[in-house]
Amino acid sequence: MDPKRGKYGDRGVIHTLDMWHGAKSLAKKLHAAGQVKGQTEILQWLKDIVSYFWFCCKEAQNMERFMGLWRGVLYHVTGRHEWTFGKCLHEPLNDEKEWIQKDSPAYMALVGVVLNKKWLKDVPTFLNLRTTSDLETFHNHILMYAGKRFAFSPPVFEARTLLAALDYNHHNSRPPMLTKEGNRAYQKIYNKKSRRYSLYTVKSHKSYRYIPDLQRAITRRRLMSEGSAKTGDHQGGRP
Ligand SMILES: [Zn+2]
Repeated sequence: MDPKRGKYGDRGVIHTLDMWHGAKSLAKKLHAAGQVKGQTEILQWLKDIVSYFWFCCKEAQNMERFMGLWRGVLYHVTGRHEWTFGKCLHEPLNDEKEWIQKDSPAYMALVGVVLNKKWLKDVPTFLNLRTTSDLETFHNHILMYAGKRFAFSPPVFEARTLLAALDYNHHNSRPPMLTKEGNRAYQKIYNKKSRRYSLYTVKSHKSYRYIPDLQRAITRRRLMSEGSAKTGDHQGGRP
């Protein structure tokens, strides 16, 4: 499917499927192919092929480039690292795996998976390598400002969501925290989905530098609005 088409595409929304689903569905197909007698060599390549798929999605901005890179997997597994229209991008290999014989049943099954038309149709939606985790992070961030356990009136909810967005946008690209020695600080986080630990860079503390500006704007607004500053009445307490 073309991610830039359709109702939302016309409005500039790029349809993206979660990369995890793409990688998972590929791994599933490879695993199934590797279960068949005479095709078990596929299994030892499974991990490499899936991570190569991630790499191709990251590298390629369009389908042509993706296919150029992706097809390379069918050469690489046979031990060929250069071919008519391209070559492998990896460094010289030292952990040599057993190559898959070209035209062997395993190879033919691999071709079936790698060039599977139905699966390839979804690939354009992966090419900007988005995962829903960014969106989930943002939603969790909103929950810090507007927790689900509290009831807010619509204007208060809106204000809290805006505050959450300000905080998020202001701090999203802040630099990493450095240790005393000047190295980046890392944190280990367990991911239940992949059952693995991942290392994350710890970001520097938030500055909230936009808050004084916000306070000034609020005071100004309050002073400008007729009468309210004189009487100093608060409507409804803290939002
Ligand atoms: Zn290669």
